Amino acid sequence: MFDNKDKTEINELGEFGLIEYLTKAVELTQSTTLKGIGDDAAVLDFSNKKTLISTDLLLEGIHFDLRYVPLKHLGYKAVQVNLSDIYAMNGKASQITFSIGLSSKFPLEAVEEIYEGALIACKKYEVDLIGGDTSASAQGLVISVTSIGYGEADAIAYRSGAKEGDLLCVSGDLGGAYVGLQLLEREKQIFLENPQIQPDLEGKDYIVERQLKPEARKDLIQLFETYGIQPHAMIDVSDGLASEILHICKASQVGCKLYEDKIPIDPMTYDTAREFGLDPTVCALNGGEDYELLFTVPQDAYDKVKNQLDITIIGYITEEAAGCEMISKSGNVHPITAQGWNAFKK
Ligand code: ADP
Ligand code: MG
Repeated sequence: MFDNKDKTEINELGEFGLIEYLTKAVELTQSTTLKGIGDDAAVLDFSNKKTLISTDLLLEGIHFDLRYVPLKHLGYKAVQVNLSDIYAMNGKASQITFSIGLSSKFPLEAVEEIYEGALIACKKYEVDLIGGDTSASAQGLVISVTSIGYGEADAIAYRSGAKEGDLLCVSGDLGGAYVGLQLLEREKQIFLENPQIQPDLEGKDYIVERQLKPEARKDLIQLFETYGIQPHAMIDVSDGLASEILHICKASQVGCKLYEDKIPIDPMTYDTAREFGLDPTVCALNGGEDYELLFTVPQDAYDKVKNQLDITIIGYITEEAAGCEMISKSGNVHPITAQGWNAFKK
């Protein structure tokens, strides 16, 4: 993974030295941050806005594999997946805390790379790093990010807001992160069997990036504001389209119709899924980690969403009793299940 020759051992610095070293490049840019790193707690001021808070825990071997995830990407992704939850509420992300547990195999240079990635994400998305915690870990790397943001009370989009007749929409395209992961897993296996062989990811940049370097859809929240679009319900696609649709429908006590032929899938995702013998639709439904936004809007917002190149209308919301169903390309109707659609043979 990394060569510890000529590397600095963390205990040479001590905990306080490490924190100081890692956070020396931190700049505060948000007017809502009154106090960042350096006291017992950070101090924020959202005046009359509602505060949004979300947290994620990332564990080595469970959520990431350092054999193919570069540390800088890991820091970047850890921040992105967290900001995505604030955007999924139709909020503005403004601060994060970043906590880290390190086993002895990590030299200072490794932690530095993680922070480099995290700080690039902070800068790009205009959020302040305002604190965290640092500890030794008995085994492996642990990262926990908390993101903080704000929104107007009537702009915040809950999972529970979908109404019968709403249009079901999704941003970007789906399945890419999952197919990218299959590719990385395959190359890892080849590498483990024969370390002389270099990974062959030629021409697969898009899906590899979808897996390693996801981008939270802050731009969509800005687009909603510009065009006066108020989503009734929204969720980010972290676990696959099927699971997220079911979350919205359950929380909103509604049903839905999803059209398989409308699900946006990038051609590279499509072709690579086929190479792996996978159904591209199943990759979009059950894959996950795309960090796109799934949302519903009232029908009178149709004119506003239909011409947005990055938004696809994939179905509509029905009454609860009608259930959650997908109309396949061949016109058959299937119940949407969180997993298990896999097993269905078309
Ligand atoms: P405490 O003992 O009160 O937990 P620490 O010594 O852990 O305080 O932290 C001192 C300051 O450094 C705090 O502002 C804390 O938020 C910040 N900090 C600690 N670890 C990190 C980290 N990994 N990333 C960013 N800030 C950190
Ligand atoms: Mg602490």
